[in-house]
Amino acid sequence: MNCELLYILGPCAAESREQVLETARELAAISCQPSEVSSQHSVPFIFRAGAWKPRTSPRTFQGIGEEALTWLAEAKMLYGMDVATEVATPEHVRKAIAAGMDYLWIGARTSANPMAVENLTPALSSREGGKIKGILIKNPVNEDAKLWIGNIERLEKTGIPVMAVHRGCGHQPCWRMAHQVRLARPDIPMLLDPSHMSGDAAKVPELMQMIPQLGLDGAMVEVHCHPAEALSDAKQQITPEELADLTQPHPGRVLRPSTGRSIEQSSSPLKGGSHGIELNWLRAEIDELDDKLWDTIAARMDVSRRIGEWKKANGVAPLQPERYEMIRERLKNLTPTLSSGEGELRTEFKLALWELIHEESLRQQS
Ligand code: PEP
Ligand code: MN
Repeated sequence: MNCELLYILGPCAAESREQVLETARELAAISCQPSEVSSQHSVPFIFRAGAWKPRTSPRTFQGIGEEALTWLAEAKMLYGMDVATEVATPEHVRKAIAAGMDYLWIGARTSANPMAVENLTPALSSREGGKIKGILIKNPVNEDAKLWIGNIERLEKTGIPVMAVHRGCGHQPCWRMAHQVRLARPDIPMLLDPSHMSGDAAKVPELMQMIPQLGLDGAMVEVHCHPAEALSDAKQQITPEELADLTQPHPGRVLRPSTGRSIEQSSSPLKGGSHGIELNWLRAEIDELDDKLWDTIAARMDVSRRIGEWKKANGVAPLQPERYEMIRERLKNLTPTLSSGEGELRTEFKLALWELIHEESLRQQS
């Protein structure tokens, strides 16, 4: 395992004492030996499991609740690992602290509500809250860099080290949002959550490669001893063995799990020695936009084909000159301005691109 990055590993949810302890034991076996780590911690990763699960449907597994915290505490005692769970209410915070959790994370659904985050801060700021080594804030479910930054600021008031977890929006990476936060707060460690970002265990390896490319500080990965049997997020969880293959050493930032702060921040996109990291962020953004562009074009072709069927059924020719002219006029007046504020798309470019799309549409219709 690459001991230079911070990993938060474990199942989506704590389901049973056996499942928690089996996953923790297998993870402990594949992690760095204590001598490899420069911190006082015996294992270089934080073990995670959700006790309370914020789920879309009330008819699905909602988590075991408080009892699950005792299993996490047992894993901590047996394997010397720091443990983390998700909190969404002040009561969760108090119970998690009382049960000996070292780190807490705030999920994407809670992060979408600034008041919910604010409501957690008194419990975190309390004397008891001082026992927490770090608080992780996921990005809000919908793309909102400003709210994510706002939540970081809300949590900073507690005095507990704050880290950001980039889990994407739905199953889209939303690199632009993460890039904005990285640029605004290069001092805040950012971890990647490839599990929720993709929702697909098969896509986790590829996403993990983004960590060194983007100079991220580590990852939160859902790892389950028997993923197929998981009660939540079964499709995206990987086994401890698969995780071991993905965490080979590569140059990255050194993180001290005890503080969550980077020791060496030279790979920050704003600072020197970024080795093309800023370019990689921009490329991640552009690749994602290209993906969306092709999805949009494909969706357009689908509609076009349906129009073709209608025309055929109603004896209408594929090319309608009137309609053709109308679309061209509409396009000329359409002014998608560049967000940099530097001009707009040239009319010639818009028409040439649309001409190509239209030609393909006609081909699909005939
Ligand atoms: C989780 O980490 O299990 C979780 C619920 O994640 P998110 O809030 O990112 O959906
Ligand atoms: Mn999950």
